Amino acid sequence: MSSSDVARQLGAHPLSLSGHVGFDSLPDQLVNKSTCQGFCFNILCIGETGIGKSTLMDTLFNTNFENCESSHFEPQVKLRAQTYDLQESNVKLRLTVVNTVGFGDQMNKQDSYQPVVDYIDRQYETYLQEELKIKRSLHNYHDSRLHACLYFISPSGHSLKSLDLLTMKKLDSKVNIIPVIAKADTISKSELHKFKLKIMSELVSNGVQIYQFPLDDETVAKVNTTMNGHLPFAVVGSTEEMMVGNKMVKARQYPWGVVQVENESHCDFVKLREMLICVNMEDLREQTHTRHYELYRRCKLEEIGFRDTDPESKPVRYDTHTLTLALVKLKCL
Ligand code: GDP
Repeated sequence: MSSSDVARQLGAHPLSLSGHVGFDSLPDQLVNKSTCQGFCFNILCIGETGIGKSTLMDTLFNTNFENCESSHFEPQVKLRAQTYDLQESNVKLRLTVVNTVGFGDQMNKQDSYQPVVDYIDRQYETYLQEELKIKRSLHNYHDSRLHACLYFISPSGHSLKSLDLLTMKKLDSKVNIIPVIAKADTISKSELHKFKLKIMSELVSNGVQIYQFPLDDETVAKVNTTMNGHLPFAVVGSTEEMMVGNKMVKARQYPWGVVQVENESHCDFVKLREMLICVNMEDLREQTHTRHYELYRRCKLEEIGFRDTDPESKPVRYDTHTLTLALVKLKCL
């Protein structure tokens, strides 16, 4: 519903001002408050061991996260979260990177997605429990809900694995999925083009919903429309720098030449960085709260018998006693 629709519903009348009042500074007040508080962003990286998750994270954030090399012999998938405080100019970002250790390494890969689903739900549950407290401290609460999931697809050039489809299908209503083709320097240009089309058609035919860069903000609608057409991004990661021309660039060197990470004719790394960090980070945070968390909360409340409307579609009002009992039940679930 647009703000003018809401105004009409409320019976609010438009009125003009005959002089300066001062509330035009509200957007600035909001920016200052948010800058002081700092921001938080949580990324989930899903992909098999050795596919390039840690290298891509280091490359994206221009830093060296504490990466521990994992073996291919983990008995089950584990999620490892590490939190870092980063600062760029005067903007503070508390970044959590969650890695899926041992994903797809077991003989039986069928249940690889379950620990991931459980982890995501646990973060929603913790948030819900905080919301239900009498003394809530959501303003300084460390929000651990996952805002984006980078799903690393192996650069096979063939098709998605059944594990990829199964996992993405299980997660698409819980987290914003951004699929990326990892190690894109190992696949030829013509194969890559066909591979991207194949992946997108497989996602559509299996009903997997990936995150679409939003088009409602007209300042970014054009770039987001173009970028939606480039998905999944084919990325190359490297923290090694070398001289190309008279510039130091991040690259991977091979006997036959150099792949430059930030060269848009070599791979989509810059597109991913622009879309994930520079343009849509706030939308990813918002979608997590308004779409995915909302769905989790709604299911939980429905589980204990809450309804907004009765069978005759009339609004239901709960008395304090029923509400208290329901909240106690919710806390015990
Ligand atoms: P992780 O286990 O998924 O975190 O994988 P790593 O980031 O540790 O990378 C595993 C290996 O793949 C390392 O030797 C990296 O140098 C290499 N690697 C990472 N990114 C790329 C890439 O984009 N292309 C190629 N060819 N190799 C990569």
